[in-house]
Amino acid sequence: MSTTAISGAQVFDGEKPLGVTTVVIEGSRIVQVGGDAPAGAQIVDGTGATLLPGLIDAHVHTDRASLALALKFGVTTELEMQGANTRDRRTPISEDDSVADVRSSGFALTPPGGHPSELFPEDFHPGRPAGGGQGGGHRGEPPHHPDATSPEAAAASIPQLLAHGSDYIKFMIDDGSVEGHPGLPMLDQATLNAGVAAAQKHGALTVAHALTIDATRMAIEAGIDGLVHLFVEPATDDIIAMVKDAGVFIVPCTVLNASMMGITGDQLADDPRVASRLDSDWDATLRSCFGHYPQGKLQDVLDSVKALADARVDLLVGTDVSQPMPFLGGLAHGASVHQEMQHLVAAGLTPAAALRAATATTARRFRLSDRGRIAEGLRADLLLVDGDPTTTITDTLNTRAVWRRGARLAA
Ligand SMILES: [Zn+2]
Repeated sequence: MSTTAISGAQVFDGEKPLGVTTVVIEGSRIVQVGGDAPAGAQIVDGTGATLLPGLIDAHVHTDRASLALALKFGVTTELEMQGANTRDRRTPISEDDSVADVRSSGFALTPPGGHPSELFPEDFHPGRPAGGGQGGGHRGEPPHHPDATSPEAAAASIPQLLAHGSDYIKFMIDDGSVEGHPGLPMLDQATLNAGVAAAQKHGALTVAHALTIDATRMAIEAGIDGLVHLFVEPATDDIIAMVKDAGVFIVPCTVLNASMMGITGDQLADDPRVASRLDSDWDATLRSCFGHYPQGKLQDVLDSVKALADARVDLLVGTDVSQPMPFLGGLAHGASVHQEMQHLVAAGLTPAAALRAATATTARRFRLSDRGRIAEGLRADLLLVDGDPTTTITDTLNTRAVWRRGARLAA
């Protein structure tokens, strides 16, 4: 088994800076943090750089090509919040160190005709990429579509989803108002309660799509574990207190809210460190935006993020990035994770808190005990960047090297 020692770099272990520390990788694992490099180890000189755990995007919709793009930006795991990359279908991805690893909810509980059907042109089927090329590597049974037409049906769908390889269970709570499609069919409280209770009875983590304060309140009343969006309206003291008291985590996806408010990803796309890694389809997508909620204000979202952080609510970095299509724009796999961290810092988090939100906090809340930190025995999912992102968050884009399971990604 090959042994590699990364020496001379400052280490951020997912929770805190450790100073200049040697990290040793053997095969796919981290075997030593601190001390001297073992004799015979291949040395990677990390002078002037910072070693981080591989980043985790806690809200994506993805496929093999997108996972490859994410990895180029040091994102070693993507958490899919509706899609086809369930446990039995992703074996080729799990074994391929040229793409990011993935976990998936499979398909979310939503009523017939409910969100996200309003987002797509009639001939577009999310999770089934046109041409079939992008999704390559899928095996096993087709993804299971749960039935959320009644509390009983929702509860009965949960063991089916888990049997089909869902890693956690997602609930859509959306009446379409934020997307400019008011009146969409939406889960009612009783169906949501029954689904969440059934999932938790089976030991599954539950997450909700909720873009409004009302939907957030419904999710919390049902006992949800986490929210994979942040409401777009200005926060109230009541909702911040409710989130805090419930102990739920939030994946704000500030970049998505910005896109819905009409802010494109032009600024990120103009960064040469980003432009050099995007093809023309992703460049065009990043330079676009959703734009369904122009009445919203990004500063309200940033203020909510700060209020939640001050209340010690666990915040996780996520983007809601999807396919390279301008109507899903303002986002790009991997790149947008870095912009999300920049938004969190703009909201008032420290750079270290933003890094935690993309590593250790996410691993802990999603029960991924083998990653998200630099510690002995964990997966060698690592990102080495020039500079010091614990003081300058934009330094996360100064990629020097990426390792996935100890395999260094070819430059
Ligand atoms: Zn999403």
